[in-house]
Amino acid sequence: MVSMLIFLGSPGSGKGTQALKLSEAFGYQHISIGDMLRQNVDEVTELGKKASEYINLGKLVPDNLIIEMVEFFFRNLPEKKPNKVILDGFPRTQTQAEALEEIINELELNLASVIYLDVQDAVVISRLSERGRKDDSPDLVMNRLQVYRDQTEPLLKFYANKNVLLTVDGNQPPEEVFIKISESIKVQA
Ligand code: AMP
Repeated sequence: MVSMLIFLGSPGSGKGTQALKLSEAFGYQHISIGDMLRQNVDEVTELGKKASEYINLGKLVPDNLIIEMVEFFFRNLPEKKPNKVILDGFPRTQTQAEALEEIINELELNLASVIYLDVQDAVVISRLSERGRKDDSPDLVMNRLQVYRDQTEPLLKFYANKNVLLTVDGNQPPEEVFIKISESIKVQA
């Protein structure tokens, strides 16, 4: 059975960094929705053309496009399935979370934990100003934080109600956050 971890947190909370570290240390396959989208943008696919309009405004790409991409990924896993995956950047809306429930049930995946990286806005803003990605400009960062607050933060309650939410203080340097995450998933396992 494929066991799944989800990372939730605001832009700049360290989801990508921590997901990468966990995948290297414990053999998870890292599935970054933002990276998939950026790859589509670079390759100028139909999805990439549509997605870039939203990414460049700091908005979420419409649910139907994202859900289609994620469903395609899970329905087309190779014969030798990964046994552990990390979803980084999905779900980000209630509709996406419900679609993921359906995928989990249909394909009999196991949602092991949802790791919430709790980071103060001031830390996020300082981190993103150093990262220098195109959508990290100060005005877009404020948009993305607001979108996070409105659309993604409510999912914390959704997953807390399912008893799968692990909250980790993400304000510390990445090495320290990594140790805390590793400890909390071991306790859970
Ligand atoms: P990220 O790399 O996770 O910060 O994502 C970069 C951008 O890609 C976001 O600001 C959104 O425009 C888009 N994006 C990533 N994941 C999603 C998602 N689950 N739903 C909608 N848009 C997304």
